[in-house]
Amino acid sequence: MKKMDLGFVAMRAWLVLVLSTLALLSGCVTTQQTAAVPKNIIILFGDGAAATQWELGRYTSQALRGTPFAITDVVFKQGALGVLTVHSADSFVTDSAAAATAMSTGYKTNNGMAGMRPDGTRARTVMEAAKAQGKRIGLVTTATVYDASPAAFAAHVKSRREAQTIVDQFYELEPDVVLGGGRDYFLPKGTGAGRRADGKDMLAAFAAKGYTVVQDPAALRAATGRRVLGLFDDEDLDFELDRDAAAQPSIAGMAAAAIRILEKDSPNGFVLFIENENIDTAGHRNDAAALIRALWALDEAAQIALDFQKRAPDETLVLVTGDHETGGLSVTYALRELAPASEKNRFYPDDSHLKMVSGIRMSLDHAAKLLGRKPTAEALDKVLAEGFPGFRLDPDLRSAILEGRPLERNVFYVSQGALARMVSRQPGFYWGTMGHTTEPVLVGAMGPGAALFRGYMDNTDLAKILHNLIGKGTDR
Ligand SMILES: [Zn+2]
Repeated sequence: MKKMDLGFVAMRAWLVLVLSTLALLSGCVTTQQTAAVPKNIIILFGDGAAATQWELGRYTSQALRGTPFAITDVVFKQGALGVLTVHSADSFVTDSAAAATAMSTGYKTNNGMAGMRPDGTRARTVMEAAKAQGKRIGLVTTATVYDASPAAFAAHVKSRREAQTIVDQFYELEPDVVLGGGRDYFLPKGTGAGRRADGKDMLAAFAAKGYTVVQDPAALRAATGRRVLGLFDDEDLDFELDRDAAAQPSIAGMAAAAIRILEKDSPNGFVLFIENENIDTAGHRNDAAALIRALWALDEAAQIALDFQKRAPDETLVLVTGDHETGGLSVTYALRELAPASEKNRFYPDDSHLKMVSGIRMSLDHAAKLLGRKPTAEALDKVLAEGFPGFRLDPDLRSAILEGRPLERNVFYVSQGALARMVSRQPGFYWGTMGHTTEPVLVGAMGPGAALFRGYMDNTDLAKILHNLIGKGTDR
């Protein structure tokens, strides 16, 4: 009897030990699972940025800015890194609407469509999913706020050109923060640059819903409301290279304001989309100098996001990604002169070549604007002297500009294309096209859930992971 009792006690003690160990283990697992779900998600989006562009950001930062490039040196290096394929439903070459739709809804769609499947039915976006979970949401871009990428993250249109409809859908969805350009589709025709056909003043309509409406950087910094609509240009915001800091905020300034506004009484957290469209636009113009500054500008926004994340590392997931590569950028060794094709005539780009590019004082778009529709030789010489110190315009490029003749069939902007080729020849900054390419894009992730983004995936997988982290999965 006594022996049995002892045995029973021993067995019970053993059971208690096993059970408590199990409880402890499951407790750990539960804690880990809880910790892997982010409260906040900040998506830094380089439109037109693939590995080529991020690398340009990294080595130019090191050589010219004297600081590390946080996107590669912190997020990619210390976080998880994935690679995403980018084809759309109807082409190997995606546009921004189809790419962002895949990344926001988990569905491939046709180029030009945003937040919709190819058959025209609506697909749930990341921002709708976040809103349904009680999260606060924000859209920040250097493009018009109704541009393809923010549209695909929060709206549903058959054509990305349906600007007025996209604005109306934002009005219904009520994102807590909307910052960027595109005042034209918030105002009726006849009022300023207004282009709305229905006569509505959407600035007034948003204000009536409780939004603080701001139109310059100082007002954005001072904005204290829970909801802010900030429109800083009638159309796209300027390249960082051309930006007037009194008229338009930097993307870092917009990021800081958005985070400050969104984190206010947000028990369920927030999802914030921050896009630098000017990386894509610089690629479309083959504008190396504007591209470098646009990359640094997004990097400053990434640093703001990382600083916020540091305050509570278990709460915020920071993602850096892009939708496709733009321009077929190819920084390469090349011949100094067209002949001879010998190694002696060959140069490899070094810091001096980077310095030459960073010495450019205006974007190619700004130069083209100064040249006008019918450039004269005098205007061209003036633009070259003012904007492009140290560069030599070869006769073939000069005549292309003066005659308005594109250099190739994938050159859509004549003056920019010829000036870009001038910038190619001395420092070795060549481009393959003025459109998008098929290069896969990268996604870097830091914070809770980051490990899920590791590996070679489709761009629709990014949406599936995001929707799972937010709460319910995609509507597939
Ligand atoms: Zn583009």
